[in-house]
Amino acid sequence: MYQIIDGKKISQEIKDELREKVTALKAEGKDICLAVIQVGSDPASSVYVGNKKKACAYIGIESLAYELPEETTQDELLALVRRLNGDDKVNGILVQLPLPKHIDENAVIQTISPEKDVDGFNEKNVGALCVGSKGFVSCTPLGIIQLLKRSGVEISGKHCVVIGRSNIVGKPMSLLLLRENGTVTICHSRTQNLKEITKQADILIAAVGKPKFVDDTFIKEGAVVIDVGIHRNENNKLCGDVDFEKAAPHTSAITPVPGGVGPMTIAMLMYNCVSSVE
Ligand code: NAP
Repeated sequence: MYQIIDGKKISQEIKDELREKVTALKAEGKDICLAVIQVGSDPASSVYVGNKKKACAYIGIESLAYELPEETTQDELLALVRRLNGDDKVNGILVQLPLPKHIDENAVIQTISPEKDVDGFNEKNVGALCVGSKGFVSCTPLGIIQLLKRSGVEISGKHCVVIGRSNIVGKPMSLLLLRENGTVTICHSRTQNLKEITKQADILIAAVGKPKFVDDTFIKEGAVVIDVGIHRNENNKLCGDVDFEKAAPHTSAITPVPGGVGPMTIAMLMYNCVSSVE
């Protein structure tokens, strides 16, 4: 029988731990403040931003919301980011992605001060992860490491296969698994004989962005499978990059969608905000 890795429960544990830390920090006179910027009114982004504000309120972090119109220019957005960089009251800055097409996302990300880049996307923080020094790490992969550790999954010495090499999931995920002494293989759209590789994985991370892409034929019997994908299926229900029904019986542990990786991303954003003050 396989274990279902419960991201809802683990993320709640983390948020409760952080709430205690924030109370202690406040007692020392240290307040935490996160600035959240949204440009336009994409419904999915509004849901994510709303959830981030709710998590801040739960933990005791102040959140400043900047809801800018769709037609905001890149210069206007960069000016706001620079102003928040220089505001001592603000500890973290988050710009909700995706941005409207007329704004260069990378220019915005690189303008956020690395010390306030709680999403961990700035080149300085990515570089820090590469060389193993301190810095903010992208929240989704950071959350996956917590899911594994808090579910008793050993990473050290294990063959970890990551499908996907994006800057926000696949690449930082691979670096974090390496930092935990996993033996890491990264697969992508040009990988040949993908299944031959994934079938060697003790821990398989699916960050492909394709609904139900990974089924039982990708999995070694007893592997641990982490599903990063979020999609709506034909019945408008959430599903992941893994075909859960087919894959789960062949795993020793697996994350569901919803209730697996998703809730961890916000919990780790809160973790990064608290670390910015600690
Ligand atoms: P992405 O930028 O689209 O990257 C997808 C990766 O999968 C790319 O590296 C791509 O390879 C690779 N790929 C595509 N087709 C493939 C194939 N047939 N075989 C092997 N590799 C293939 O997506 P992402 O931003 O990393 O996100 C991945 C998934 O996670 C999405 O479903 C996204 O919605 C979800 N997500 C969830 C959270 C969360 O909080 N749970 C957070 C972020 C993302 P190439 O590089 O060669 O194109």
